[in-house]
Amino acid sequence: MTVLVVGAGPTGLTMALDLARRGVPVRVIDKAPEHFTGSRGKGVQDRTLEVFADLGIRDEILAAGQHMTMRMYVNGEHTRDAAGNALILPQWKVEEALRDRLAEHGVKVELDTELLDLDGATNHGRIDHDYLVGCDGGRSTVRKLLGVPFEGVTADGDHLMMLGDVEVSGLDPDYWHMWIGNGFYALAPFRTVPQWQVQIVPPEPLGEQPSLEVFQRLFDEMTGWSGVTLSNPTWLSTYRVNVRMVRKFRVGNVFLAGDAAHVHPPTGGLGMNTGIQDAYNLGWKLAAVINGEAGDTLLDTYEAERLPIAEWTLGTSAEGLQKVAAAVQSGTGAVDAGRNPDHKQLSLGYPDSPLSRNLVSWDGPAAGFRAPWQESLQLGDFTLLTFDDVRVLVRPDGYIGVVGGPADDLSVSAYLMDR
Ligand SMILES: Cc1cc2nc3c(=O)[nH]c(=O)nc-3n(C[C@H](O)[C@H](O)[C@H](O)COP(=O)(O)OP(=O)(O)OC[C@H]3O[C@@H](n4cnc5c(N)ncnc54)[C@H](O)[C@@H]3O)c2cc1C
Repeated sequence: MTVLVVGAGPTGLTMALDLARRGVPVRVIDKAPEHFTGSRGKGVQDRTLEVFADLGIRDEILAAGQHMTMRMYVNGEHTRDAAGNALILPQWKVEEALRDRLAEHGVKVELDTELLDLDGATNHGRIDHDYLVGCDGGRSTVRKLLGVPFEGVTADGDHLMMLGDVEVSGLDPDYWHMWIGNGFYALAPFRTVPQWQVQIVPPEPLGEQPSLEVFQRLFDEMTGWSGVTLSNPTWLSTYRVNVRMVRKFRVGNVFLAGDAAHVHPPTGGLGMNTGIQDAYNLGWKLAAVINGEAGDTLLDTYEAERLPIAEWTLGTSAEGLQKVAAAVQSGTGAVDAGRNPDHKQLSLGYPDSPLSRNLVSWDGPAAGFRAPWQESLQLGDFTLLTFDDVRVLVRPDGYIGVVGGPADDLSVSAYLMDR
């Protein structure tokens, strides 16, 4: 049985790695001729760090990242500092760490390989597979081939955010600087690379393409500061707000994950994290079915569990964006207004999932919630814990599967087969 993973962004790489380490034959393809080198999704949340611990890359990610203080200026004057909510590092660094770990399992990303149909046709011939996971981003080919609607809204007009990676001189690299009052201009440094991420929402639509010259001119005009010089751009892009998701995460043996299944504003720094956690939810289930330990219906729980999370993510990030926009327009400068402790994603869970079973009541966390004893668990596999007369079966992804009493069958086989 082979799984074909389409797309080697953070979602596809996590998917491939989780399957490969479980001994599932997997191929991962990407239509890009080279690996992505932009800093795009630069915030790694606490829950994702737990996933990375299990996947064996947490130390590397911690070494490459930093927790930043956001320094805000209104009309050029420093008004406020606020602690950021995530570990900051460039997205390409996360992808590199996942890719290196995947290579240790003998799997290399097949670049310049574009999926053309669901039978596995590519520009380099057909790839035989039994399951296919579409991790191919917001414009997903897999989603389109399935005919699954991407429901929601796209911001209209040509008022785009400009983005890029540049080197910066003349600015304190200990802060993520944000200028508010005349549009929004932000410069975020990174710990282990010379680039900073620039994000610009100009006061008026520009109709210009992003370039170093445009970034520098806008910096000078929008901040009113002098003495800061941008140079050496390594990535230039634009971004338009989309709030969209699918209502089907599974069609037969084809799954959608990450941006292919949901896109939303960057407020809260959730996109990459949510995709990684989609993959981490599906990985152990797909492996259990392929290895004959569970029936096919286990795979239906992927949608049952991740669709409500996608709904929540769209809602909280869109609401956060409105709060940030209001703060920018009112001139208060509180761009941290869109923050929410749940964005660390530790409090999210699957209480309504068919996989969450509370057979007895107790004072501890209910089935479906993240097991709070993560450091003492052997993540990646099931763990049975005993507390006085209550026993707790923790799933491989660290969520509580069953809370039961001494007489209940809490074996893994009963849990997996009993559906
Ligand atoms: C300004 C900005 C800030 C952000 N900040 C954060 C943040 O702080 N935290 C966060 O978590 N997220 C953030 N995000 C979002 C994050 O970047 C995305 O959610 C993330 O990249 C999605 O990962 P993915 O693997 O699902 O898709 P992608 O990264 O888009 O990868 C999809 C891959 O599929 C490939 N592909 C497409 N079609 C095909 C095909 N037919 N055949 C083969 N390959 C194909 C593409 O080449 C691509 O490599 C931010 C985004 C933006 C724009």
